[in-house]
Amino acid sequence: MKTRGKYSSQRVPRSSRHRETQSPPNQSSQRSHRQRAKRVTFRLESIYGSPRHGNKYDPIDELIFIILSQMTTQPSFDRVFTRLKKETQSWDRVIKMPLSILKELIADAGLSNQKAPRIKAILERIKKDFGEISLAGLHNLRNKEVVAYLTSLPGVGIKTAKCVMMYSLGRQVLPVDTHVERVAKRLGFLNTHTPISQVHSELESVVPPTLRYAFHVNALSHGRQVCLAARPKCHACQLRRMCQYLKAKTSIKPD
Ligand code: SF4
Repeated sequence: MKTRGKYSSQRVPRSSRHRETQSPPNQSSQRSHRQRAKRVTFRLESIYGSPRHGNKYDPIDELIFIILSQMTTQPSFDRVFTRLKKETQSWDRVIKMPLSILKELIADAGLSNQKAPRIKAILERIKKDFGEISLAGLHNLRNKEVVAYLTSLPGVGIKTAKCVMMYSLGRQVLPVDTHVERVAKRLGFLNTHTPISQVHSELESVVPPTLRYAFHVNALSHGRQVCLAARPKCHACQLRRMCQYLKAKTSIKPD
């Protein structure tokens, strides 16, 4: 497959291009957000040490890993991914196996009626596009082109695409999952009403490219361990002096 050109920038949805070229509404507040984002990233990194969260180096592995992770817990999708790899040995065998067997193999990760056909459809499409089940061809593409290709795969959204780009292709992008979004909103880097379709571009405009990996992996840890959705452990949080959410609830002045 000829990669460069086929998924060129003119294939990127018009709305995405518009967002990426929009000027920030207030440049001085944007600058202060960036300064705070740096401080927060360094603090988070010193606490959590940038864990990889089990994410994969191979882009196909990472793509399937993220599909399996949807709406379930880390121990269960870790276990299911390991079993799937061990039982099938190759992604070609996953394409060829009956759907019912694949559903059984991944049942512990939940939603197997949706995930199994999606996994098969993704692998078939990649094989058709590249002549093999490999995403190595994406290394030659620019970020916009990679996003356009990955989000054109069945059931693949922007978060999954950015995870593959960051963890497996070494791109300086910032995937925003539910934990990262919550932490970023509470710290004041995202407007609380920012729709999910805009959170990636908005947060990337605040977190510098070289810090995006650290911000993502450590904010994810923070969201899982301390900044919980229902009852954040603010009393034990090392970001309390930087937190807009806590400021709004108490008299603590954020830095
Ligand atoms: S102070 Fe509370 S709300 Fe703010 S980041 Fe920490 S845990 Fe989350």
